[in-house]
Amino acid sequence: MPSVYNWQLGRNMSYPYEEQHPRRQFAFVFNINRCIGCQTCTMACKSTWTCFKGQELFWWNNVESKPYGGYPQDWDSRLLTMLEQANPGGQVWRTSERETERSPYGRFEGLTIFEAAERLAAPEAPRAALGYLPTDDEWRHPNIYEDTPTGDAFGGPDAVGISAELPEHRVWFFHLARICNHCTYPACLASCPRQAIYKRPEDGIVLIDQHRCRGYRKCVEGCPYKKAMYRPNTHTSEKCTGCFPRIEGQDPAISPGGVPVETRCMAACVGKIRLQGLVSIAEDGTWEHDPANPIYYLVRQRGVALPLYPQFGTEPNGFYIPPRWVPRPYLVQMFGPGVDHALEQYSCPDRELLAVLQLFRAQRDILFRFAVEQGPKIGEIEVQMPSGETRVQEIFNDTVLGYNERGDEVVRLTIEEPTFERPAELHLNSI
Ligand code: SF4
Ligand code: SF4
Repeated sequence: MPSVYNWQLGRNMSYPYEEQHPRRQFAFVFNINRCIGCQTCTMACKSTWTCFKGQELFWWNNVESKPYGGYPQDWDSRLLTMLEQANPGGQVWRTSERETERSPYGRFEGLTIFEAAERLAAPEAPRAALGYLPTDDEWRHPNIYEDTPTGDAFGGPDAVGISAELPEHRVWFFHLARICNHCTYPACLASCPRQAIYKRPEDGIVLIDQHRCRGYRKCVEGCPYKKAMYRPNTHTSEKCTGCFPRIEGQDPAISPGGVPVETRCMAACVGKIRLQGLVSIAEDGTWEHDPANPIYYLVRQRGVALPLYPQFGTEPNGFYIPPRWVPRPYLVQMFGPGVDHALEQYSCPDRELLAVLQLFRAQRDILFRFAVEQGPKIGEIEVQMPSGETRVQEIFNDTVLGYNERGDEVVRLTIEEPTFERPAELHLNSI
């Protein structure tokens, strides 16, 4: 197999095709700390794309409760187990080899799904990626174990009052919102024997050509995130389209301003956990240095948002701010060794990071640039750091501005939310 560079692993890896990169890449950051599991995103996607015959079990956007939930059931623990069996004791990171641009999380020493397939492949049945085909029953219960916690503090008198103290809760769960990651090295694309899957050069969105697809389900088997799905009445596979008409910004009905707008799931998010963007990609596949782009800033500049299961090797373009209260080994398994740094940043954000965090779900246009205007200091609060120590955070009433693709200012927010009191004589329900 050809060798390609994966910055999330900090090394080259095997992949069935030579490196080829889009000019811009669809990317997003989800702040898990804010997700309330309301499923508004899920229904926004469902009612737009997958409400037709044969798509009854399709949830291109799903929100599962971890650690027990999963759609399809056990998708991640099952693949982690398969990788461990392929490389017992070897799925480890060497964090001493960090370098900001080329290997921000260190170097992954284990096997990716492509390398494990290469090692295990039977000559008569070669596979591009290690994976499995979920059963119909595993797809059938998208929100199994919703809100089910785990932990060791149930039952005893000690549990009362202390099970939900930081830095780590003793009883915990969290909501994990997921869509297709429009991976840099998609396993769905690698697994397709018909070359029916392609990655668009203009935005890195990964699509399935419905005319070429013959429904072999190799993409369903190969995608480690299980975001390619089989439609029985058309005998083809389908997947999240990244709401590409919205990203193109050319449809006057969707985007009267003619600029890219956020996908349906992003634009509907009630908890304001989502920030979507497009990042510029250099010819060699690296992200072009652009610290004024909010996504670049959060992922590459500050390291506060991390890829989901980077060890799978697909270089996913969805990034997560990990939940503060969850035991660290679980988070490191899910988001890699950048977790401590990310939580250190998020627990006590400086004034610039705090300002950028206000941009999540602030309006529909995709933001290509932000700026911060400094305001007066308005307070101090004591915060608990991941180490257990307390620190004093200074709060400033700064203003953050966001700009769309054309450079127009489309959002202006202050740290302190303004409150307006409606005059009682004009509004009957005023208090
Ligand atoms: S998440 Fe799965 S379906 Fe989406 S691009 Fe990656 S491998 Fe393909
Ligand atoms: S709409 Fe937002 S807050 Fe609600 S479940 Fe989806 S991601 Fe979470």
